[in-house]
Amino acid sequence: MPREAPCPTCRQSGPWLTGAHTPFCSERCRMVDLGKWLGEEHRITSPLTVEDLKELADLEEGAEEQADR
Ligand SMILES: [Zn+2]
Repeated sequence: MPREAPCPTCRQSGPWLTGAHTPFCSERCRMVDLGKWLGEEHRITSPLTVEDLKELADLEEGAEEQADR
């Protein structure tokens, strides 16, 4: 029986902890939260998932080239 938890973005309750967009209910909510995070609207308040780290690594690869100047 999957545990239910509220999505951090839209607060909808569901089995997100075992879903593809953990801990969010959907890709959209995940991107909304990531956007806030990158905008420093809030600091890290919840543990990052492995998927989050992969995404950040991808973003930083592109940023490094720009920071070279
Ligand atoms: Zn959501």
